[in-house]
Amino acid sequence: PPRTVLISGCSSGIGLELAVQLAHDPRQRYHVVATMRDLGKKGTLEAAAGEALGQTLTVAQLDVSSDESVAQCLSCIQGGEVDVLVNNAGVGLVGPLEGLSLAAMQNVFDTNFFGAVRLVKAVLPGMKRRRQGHIVVVSSVMGLQGVVFNEVYAASKFAVEGFFESLAVQLLQFNIFISLVEPGPVITEFEGKLLEQVSTAEFPGTDPDTLSYFRDLYLPASRELFHNVGQSPQDVAKVIVKVIGSARPPLRRQTNTRYAPLAALKAMDPSGSLHVRTSHRLLFRWPRLLNLGLRCLACSCFRTPVWPR
Ligand code: NAD
Repeated sequence: PPRTVLISGCSSGIGLELAVQLAHDPRQRYHVVATMRDLGKKGTLEAAAGEALGQTLTVAQLDVSSDESVAQCLSCIQGGEVDVLVNNAGVGLVGPLEGLSLAAMQNVFDTNFFGAVRLVKAVLPGMKRRRQGHIVVVSSVMGLQGVVFNEVYAASKFAVEGFFESLAVQLLQFNIFISLVEPGPVITEFEGKLLEQVSTAEFPGTDPDTLSYFRDLYLPASRELFHNVGQSPQDVAKVIVKVIGSARPPLRRQTNTRYAPLAALKAMDPSGSLHVRTSHRLLFRWPRLLNLGLRCLACSCFRTPVWPR
């Protein structure tokens, strides 16, 4: 029988693409429960699903920040059995810390961290009973390495990484696998929504220097990075499809080789100084080098990333 795959956050981006790709699996290995918080937005998904709709794909309501919504959603799945859970729903938050409210920060953790934890708690008893299951989490390269002006978002993804890496040990005993997928920049509504937030936000209480670093250095550099190395949600979904189809799923899987030189900064120097100092130089001294460096390394003219010292 096909494996039941429950995915959160399918109204757009990676979740939508993943749902559609799995539902069109040529070997029909999956039945996809594509969920979203607001069913009013299901049109795009339904159109993309085409004839798979009602066959290998069903749409359901799910708000990952609500216990009732999770219980209600699972009660509608036949036998309540989820074979593969994909925690994809997430929100971003960017800007100078002084200008962000604690409530906005808590919302990021409620969705990105507690949202995933809530779903896992709900499906775990069934997976343990059946001695099988796969929990996939859409994390981020920011779950591995901090990024300036993304402190709270990165913290929420670090929390995800620590939680699931710890849980993976116990679950292996139950034949349940965990996979953390770590995309770099992906061109979805995600970035658009963030930039919209940012362009209207005033970040009250932030000093002029910090505001100018954010607006005049960080934002253009970030836009350029998305433009130069950004992946499509289709490409990220393809990687996740492979992870789900694999007999021995990996604990971690990055999706963007063009981001690898930046990710390597941390692995190359466990003290962390290389990452912090290089990121500092790239932002405050030579912002344009960020993209030059990435492009140069992407065409593999350097075997080891070489960074200004
Ligand atoms: P997206 O904004 O298109 O998708 C996120 C989805 O989560 C949206 O459909 C949104 O409605 C949904 N969502 C938010 N709160 C929810 C809630 N409480 N309950 C249910 N759904 C909720 O952006 P995306 O890029 O497809 O994001 C998917 C995942 O990928 C996120 O976890 C994000 O952190 C991660 N990610 C994105 C990028 C990027 O650059 N876009 C990079 C790395 C990781």
